[in-house]
Amino acid sequence: MCTQAEVGQSLEIAMTSETSCKGPGEPNYCKQYVIVGGGIAGCTAAEDLLEIVSPEEVKVTLITATPIVKHVGKVVQVTRKLEDMEVVQRDANAFGEEHANLRIVQANVKSVDVHNHRIECENDSFLPFDRCLICTGAAPKIVSEHPHVVGIRDTESVKDVATRLKNARRVLVLGNGGIALEFVHEVTSCELVWAVKDAYVGNTFFDHTASGLVLPELESRRPVHIVDNLAVKNRGGEDRCDDPESYGDERVRKGIPSSNGSQAKCSERQPVGKKRPLPVALGQARHLPANRQGPLGGSLGPHWTADLSTSLSSSTAEKKADSSVTNPKPLTILFHAELEELYETPENPPTSSETSGEHEWPLYVRLTTGHTWGCDFLVSATGVVPSVDFLGPEFARGEDGGVVVNDRMQTTASPDVYAAGDCCSMTWPTSEVWFQMRLWSQARAMARYAARCMSDQVDDLGAGFAFELFAHMTRFFGFPVALLGCFNAQLLPDAEQRRLIREVEVAFPGKATQQEAVGEGQACSPNVQLSAQTRRKDGSNALQREENGTTDRLQDHVEILTRLTPGKEYVKVVVVGGRVKGAMCVGESTESAETFENLILNELDVSAFGVDLLNPDVDIDDFFD
Ligand SMILES: Cc1cc2nc3c(=O)[nH]c(=O)nc-3n(C[C@H](O)[C@H](O)[C@H](O)COP(=O)(O)OP(=O)(O)OC[C@H]3O[C@@H](n4cnc5c(N)ncnc54)[C@H](O)[C@@H]3O)c2cc1C
Repeated sequence: MCTQAEVGQSLEIAMTSETSCKGPGEPNYCKQYVIVGGGIAGCTAAEDLLEIVSPEEVKVTLITATPIVKHVGKVVQVTRKLEDMEVVQRDANAFGEEHANLRIVQANVKSVDVHNHRIECENDSFLPFDRCLICTGAAPKIVSEHPHVVGIRDTESVKDVATRLKNARRVLVLGNGGIALEFVHEVTSCELVWAVKDAYVGNTFFDHTASGLVLPELESRRPVHIVDNLAVKNRGGEDRCDDPESYGDERVRKGIPSSNGSQAKCSERQPVGKKRPLPVALGQARHLPANRQGPLGGSLGPHWTADLSTSLSSSTAEKKADSSVTNPKPLTILFHAELEELYETPENPPTSSETSGEHEWPLYVRLTTGHTWGCDFLVSATGVVPSVDFLGPEFARGEDGGVVVNDRMQTTASPDVYAAGDCCSMTWPTSEVWFQMRLWSQARAMARYAARCMSDQVDDLGAGFAFELFAHMTRFFGFPVALLGCFNAQLLPDAEQRRLIREVEVAFPGKATQQEAVGEGQACSPNVQLSAQTRRKDGSNALQREENGTTDRLQDHVEILTRLTPGKEYVKVVVVGGRVKGAMCVGESTESAETFENLILNELDVSAFGVDLLNPDVDIDDFFD
């Protein structure tokens, strides 16, 4: 079972401390545990397995498609559940040498034969296994297969985007998650048009108010022009593109000079009539975008935007000459705007007072706003699709396309084949404050748990503990962000009716008295605003009764308390029936994350606090000590 002849020698990069092994049933039989994927999940599982299993009994092999692996480096434990982790990119060889008893194989896996317990690779080599863990991650969802449509996923794709940006005049960005947000923040060297289907930026992580906290940061870097297309439609008219000031709503902040310094021309944004559509239909999820022809590497780490900047101006001379610093190009944000169609050539080229050369674009993007934008290329940042095409139908797929796993991380194909990380679909955790989101914190947690499951070292308690609370720590535009539980009121009953929540501004109870009592230095900032939103679970939109600053909380009430200190912090707490179910802390308020985490995990009744839950002068922890 474990003879080396079965493994194509050419696949092997490094092998340390080979243990002699025998076939099943023979004395000294050494089990083969094979992990597919050298990203965060795969590397974490390999490291954990090596710690758990005995090298005499189990041989651990990691298959990586590329010579580079990504793993978690330093981890700072911020709270019991929140971890600030460093993601490190390493040469696979070096990673193998660092871990005695880990065998590393470079190969692109083309199938997993569950009946014969073997993994088949692209060069017709195969690897036998007793247990196998699939950690092949996910690939960008690409809206169309076209040379000018690109995705951002791994180091190679970032290098490609940087090369394209060097000569780009205008780039269109689609999507509203972390990647789009960081891209528009980082790239100022050319004009950007950002089509956002929602009403505010960064809706994967933020709510409307938190989004408002980061918007000024974008505006501090370049001219920003904001157009809400819903507002335009509601005003009863087609968007007029001849005058940028009347183009959008009242949120137009600054004029939009075009890439050559003049105002963007109406003709560049007008619908261009009948055009020749691209050969590939929209909406196809491609695993290899135009900028990635080889196997995809592991997803990028937290410093990918720095890598993008470095690639953009690689030499010192280039850095000095980088005009994007002194002359940042404008950003147009289009809210309620989605992709409708792509064209290569407008049949009726837009008329313009400028030379036609300046108005010919490699790609034309028609949006649901009814306007067409020419651009050099389109960045498709509309989410990811699990990389599991190489697996057969015996592997059940979840709604999100991931491989379904049970509470022991086993796939439906075989109890000996497990999956973890972005490639899998977790439907079983029962906690009402945990949900799956494709993030490195979850890839790591799943991999650690899967390693324990593979080595039969887990019980029901372990499963509950690993996935009891959604907890993620990240950073956007310099602001630390801590997300806990149902931070955006996800998973709550009547979630579809969340928009019915009415906002009630609640005066801060006893604020003046407290300010007097604690002295000026510790008093609430005059900028601190407290607001409470409340509704009944039945969606009836009932407001809280407020009498003398106290509130009458019904058990089925959902309350959302928020505190905003402009430019400094934003904190939101979601309370259901008197118990905290989620929290979002942005900026300075991340210091309170531990308190909210404890409140969620301990399920303590906080009804008595009312809006004082967010009073910076009330130490909630004191009450529970
Ligand atoms: C630009 C970008 C920014 C991000 N920013 C953040 C962030 O700020 N915070 C955060 O928490 N998360 C972020 N993420 C998401 C995070 O990177 C992923 O959730 C995480 O890396 C998933 O880990 P994984 O091991 O499951 O998959 P990956 O890290 O993608 O690793 C998958 C591995 O499988 C290999 N592979 C795939 N197919 C095969 C095959 N057939 N044969 C062999 N090997 C194969 C790949 O080469 C790769 O090594 C970001 C992602 C991107 C793309």
